[in-house]
Amino acid sequence: MMEITERHIIIFSIVTFVIAIGLFIYLPFIGIRGHFANTKKQPLGTKEPFIATTVDIEKLCEVDVSENKWKYIVLHHSATDEGNAYKFDRYHRKEKKWKNGLAYHFVIGNGKGSREGEIEVGNRWKRQIHGAHTANKDINRVSIGICLVGNFEKDYEPAYNQLESLVSLVNYLAKRYNISKSNIIMHNQVVQKNTACPGKNFPYEKLMERIASLQSARTYRGL
Ligand SMILES: [Zn+2]
Repeated sequence: MMEITERHIIIFSIVTFVIAIGLFIYLPFIGIRGHFANTKKQPLGTKEPFIATTVDIEKLCEVDVSENKWKYIVLHHSATDEGNAYKFDRYHRKEKKWKNGLAYHFVIGNGKGSREGEIEVGNRWKRQIHGAHTANKDINRVSIGICLVGNFEKDYEPAYNQLESLVSLVNYLAKRYNISKSNIIMHNQVVQKNTACPGKNFPYEKLMERIASLQSARTYRGL
């Protein structure tokens, strides 16, 4: 009798332990799936890349309200491997409780959540209001926040078409608002608490070289 009871206790303990481990592993997945279940607007990575022309960008940047006096462009990564403006808007609205939603003015896709190179225009751009993309409110008021989907703190850089769209968008905005190269900065160059954004593999030098060459080409043609 004693032996059976002991065996029962041992079996019961093992079963309880296995169930506990199972729940421990499985529960976070239920949470993650629940969180993203209603945010999937587009299938991941199945569409053709988006190649932005100057006409596309001009059209995307059109607004119906009077334009803000933008002085800076601040570059970010999403610090996630995938995503799109809709997902980040949901996150900023629901989790961060920011009533204006999406903190950035533009989001550029990497093919995972939107097309590679797709430029999504945020509500804050359409309304020409401040962003919430840095912890420095003075900068937020006068800076255009552009977020590239991806985590460039990991071992990868922006996707090819994503970087091409960024070059075109930054070049266009810098020209339109007369923003000097020194005011095209990464989030980690803003005076605020430390941030790794946009990640150690963000090709800032390459971007700035491209912008410089586009600007000098324009100057040359202008002469
Ligand atoms: Zn950032």
